[in-house]
Amino acid sequence: MQVQINMANTFAGMEGYKLQPKKSVAINIKPKPTKKETLLEEYTLNEAIMPRVDSAMHLGIIRTNSMKQNIIANIEENIKKIRRSAYALLGSGFHGENGLDMETIIHLFKIYILPVLLYGMDLLTPQSLDLEKLEKFQKKMLKQLMSLPTNTPDPAINILTGILPVEAQIHLKVMTLFINVCTQPNESLEKQLARRQLCIKSMNSNSWFIQVKTIMLKYDLGNASEWLDIQMKKDELLNKAKKGINAYWIERTTSLAKLYTGLRYLNSDIFMPGKIHPILRIKHQSPRDSKRVPTKIKLLTGTYILQPLRYKIYKEGTEDHCIACECKEETLEHLLIECEAWNYLRDPILQTIKNLLTTNGNVRVEDLTCEMTIQVLMDITKIQKIYRITSDLISQIEFQSRRLVFLIHNARYQLVIKTTGDDGRTAM
Ligand SMILES: [Zn+2]
Repeated sequence: MQVQINMANTFAGMEGYKLQPKKSVAINIKPKPTKKETLLEEYTLNEAIMPRVDSAMHLGIIRTNSMKQNIIANIEENIKKIRRSAYALLGSGFHGENGLDMETIIHLFKIYILPVLLYGMDLLTPQSLDLEKLEKFQKKMLKQLMSLPTNTPDPAINILTGILPVEAQIHLKVMTLFINVCTQPNESLEKQLARRQLCIKSMNSNSWFIQVKTIMLKYDLGNASEWLDIQMKKDELLNKAKKGINAYWIERTTSLAKLYTGLRYLNSDIFMPGKIHPILRIKHQSPRDSKRVPTKIKLLTGTYILQPLRYKIYKEGTEDHCIACECKEETLEHLLIECEAWNYLRDPILQTIKNLLTTNGNVRVEDLTCEMTIQVLMDITKIQKIYRITSDLISQIEFQSRRLVFLIHNARYQLVIKTTGDDGRTAM
């Protein structure tokens, strides 16, 4: 070991640079946790003893004395870095209620946050608890950015943003790295190492290549050692891996979404990883319009607090009775369509929507049942294909439905304040 350090030092001297003494440290790697203290050797660099440390940064990845510590230290570091940069962004309006449209916010998240969060994770391949930390962070942050409460069903977040869970993203990164190895010439060191590891390591080994093997089994991508000899271009291999991973997560996310009654109006069949949900892609017509979006998404994801839940949590109002008309249970349907107290707000806008749909679209008046009307108000993209509604018409109707939802929300909010006299926390 000392010989190697000397060689590196001599080489550096010949090339005319000096090894930075502060960055040259020794880490004693413990492959397995042991209680026994081994006698540690000391290494010298330019006659000075190299300091012994438990962790050091190399190329932006923290190295520690064990793999487990590596993962923990790097996840913490990545999250810490984001906290610093993201909260600076949050102050300048990087969230849903400040005029920035969702598409831009999600784009910014992908550019500024995700690369930092997942840096180095393709090598470290965190599992279970460590993975959960990253997952939780992404979910929490996306919900914050979209002004949604933390109890929003997780699949709704994936479907609306098009961002897959952290696990899927790491798997794609791992596959990308593996494909890079596959497409190298046969005599390259990486490829020889890959062949060796895949050949001799057992399935319960911690080797990175065995992780690859497990991932490929999970997504039905075939045998890892065969990919080393496969005659395909890099892009084709990447597409194949992406397709397998996406198919798995689309199926999983959409079937999970169907289990939540709160998401019954959300069009989950349109979910495509990497693509934001079309309902959020509709451009805002004014800053006022973009302020209406969070309310609408809350209703769409079933996280808007209606009277039954308000009573359960805060014991305010009369049980589950609608606070406006006091006679019926306040449900999403009651709020949007049935409650007569909101007729004066609802009728003119619903009429406009009806006219738009029947004169410019293929919808007949008798098609517009209560259920269909709510679907139009909540997520019109679900019926877009059946009635062949143009995207231009969609954005006109969406503008009206956001307006209606927001008007009712505001009027209802005024009532909530009046009846409780508090700061209106219940209206969120
Ligand atoms: Zn009512």
